[in-house]
Amino acid sequence: MANGDFHLHSTASDGVYAPARVVEMAAEAGVTVMCLSDHDTTNGIPEAAEAAARLGLRLIPGMELSSNLELRTRPGQAIDAHLLVYGIARDSEAMQRYLAWQREERIERAKKAVAVLNECGLEISVARVFELALGGSVGRPHVARALVERGYVESVQRAFDEWLGDGKPGDIPRAKLSPREVIDLAHAAGGVVFLAHPFRGDLVDEREVRDCIRQLAEAGLDGVEVYYKNYEPERIRWLARIADEFGLQRSGGSDFHGLGNPEDRGIGDIPFPGDRVEAFTQFIEDNCREPYVKETTNAAS
Ligand code: AMP
Ligand code: ZN
Ligand code: FE
Ligand code: FE
Repeated sequence: MANGDFHLHSTASDGVYAPARVVEMAAEAGVTVMCLSDHDTTNGIPEAAEAAARLGLRLIPGMELSSNLELRTRPGQAIDAHLLVYGIARDSEAMQRYLAWQREERIERAKKAVAVLNECGLEISVARVFELALGGSVGRPHVARALVERGYVESVQRAFDEWLGDGKPGDIPRAKLSPREVIDLAHAAGGVVFLAHPFRGDLVDEREVRDCIRQLAEAGLDGVEVYYKNYEPERIRWLARIADEFGLQRSGGSDFHGLGNPEDRGIGDIPFPGDRVEAFTQFIEDNCREPYVKETTNAAS
């Protein structure tokens, strides 16, 4: 029976391990089918594909995108809804233009975050943050690591709790599209779109999460990450019921970054039953332009 993990980050964005290493770790954990879902980039996929071909895993090309969602329950106050895109044709020009723009926005936002933190007396440099990002998509975790390195906080988690988490001084907004615009782009590129970690931050009230999922379903969402990381059985049953109610598929993933945060799960260490993994991969095969990466050379990007 298939063993899957469809939410994984590498050094192409804010993960700690290189794409090939993430695939090796997945293989060591007994994963047979996976998706590399870096933030705003598909640049890690060729390297991951080579490792996947070598180790006999199936690799779904993917990514995690951010969007500005104005919840009906919170008028005038947008939240950052994370959308997992699976199976896109990576040569879609419109999608690659969008990704390049988002990465540029991330660079400008990291500079602003460092400036604000400098004003707070934390002496970290923009240059060091970019060094830690290794040329990948720059995110708050890179800023967090710079703070840890300089001894201002003891862990990445503490850096978020004190400085970078939502609403903290180092949480600088950046330009984003609406979920409907992101979903349309992803569909045009031959992919499907799932809501990542439906419960997160201060969005934990079931009525509000249900409303959020309904709103996204109206915007064309294909599925929900039901089997996420450390969700309890009760939460998973609830999410599965809501997904059914709105005609949505189910996915699952560990959201592995390798940062060693207390609530982290290892790759493949998720409550995603094998028969459900197979239903998910069947959906991907039936609905995506590039369900699995075909290229095993470094030609694609
Ligand atoms: P960014 O894409 O730059 O906004 O950063 C988002 C990433 O930061 C997510 O993928 C998480 O890995 C991490 N993150 C966001 N909020 C928190 C938090 N409160 N605690 C720990 N990590 C977080
Ligand atoms: Zn991340
Ligand atoms: Fe996320
Ligand atoms: Fe993620």
